[in-house]
Amino acid sequence: MKKLERREVLKKGSAYTLFFGALFGGGIYISPKLYAKNNHLRPPGALDEKSFLATCIKCGQCMQVCPYHSINMYDITNLNSIGTPYIDAHERGCYLCDLFPCILACPTGSLQHEVTEASDIHMGTAYIDDIDNCLAFIGQKIEKESLKATFSNQNEREAKLLDAIQGYIGKECTICADMCPYPDKTDAIEMVHENSRVFPKINQKCVGCGVCAELCPSSVISVASRKTYEEVYT
Ligand code: SF4
Ligand code: SF4
Ligand code: SF4
Repeated sequence: MKKLERREVLKKGSAYTLFFGALFGGGIYISPKLYAKNNHLRPPGALDEKSFLATCIKCGQCMQVCPYHSINMYDITNLNSIGTPYIDAHERGCYLCDLFPCILACPTGSLQHEVTEASDIHMGTAYIDDIDNCLAFIGQKIEKESLKATFSNQNEREAKLLDAIQGYIGKECTICADMCPYPDKTDAIEMVHENSRVFPKINQKCVGCGVCAELCPSSVISVASRKTYEEVYT
């Protein structure tokens, strides 16, 4: 069987399409990591960045009510955004809770109250930035030491999540695709099998919640904040 070329995988499964295209098309090489760092990953329903900064009163209500402890507030090291809420997808993604308590708690509409469905969310778009270390791609089973989901002060939801993650020990990795909280998750991410390789592919409905980035045992997924699927993949 023809061996799957690495670049073919990247074309199918990640934002590498974008920067390889730019590279080989004579454009400027842009690392997706740098690309993503230009924007903050805001909680779901956030207004565009300018309006968000103009309206958020830094009250921390969204952070207080988030049952997954997904939201942090910027400190003095982020002067332009000091006191505003953000999500660090590699620490804790957003689990797209029913009724979005963070949005309901926002007193100013900086998190837009008309956003009520997961499909209304546009936090960003996930991409795989190091396919060579994806456990599925290299055919390596999950070891206990590689699992990152650790929770202090666990509540019921976090305990359930930790149980689910621990169930993968010794198994092939499909964590990113299985744990995606988007209701029709294969519209957002799926595992594809091709020429004896298995790997995750981000799909058009990805909302950039960051759960796949958080839970990937190899940390090979990131989120391009506030970028649409088309911006990342075409
Ligand atoms: S939807 Fe839920 S998990 Fe996501 S930020 Fe809001 S409260 Fe937290
Ligand atoms: S693929 Fe799923 S888990 Fe990953 S960022 Fe997109 S919606 Fe979230
Ligand atoms: S969770 Fe990470 S290691 Fe596992 S299949 Fe997805 S990208 Fe690969």
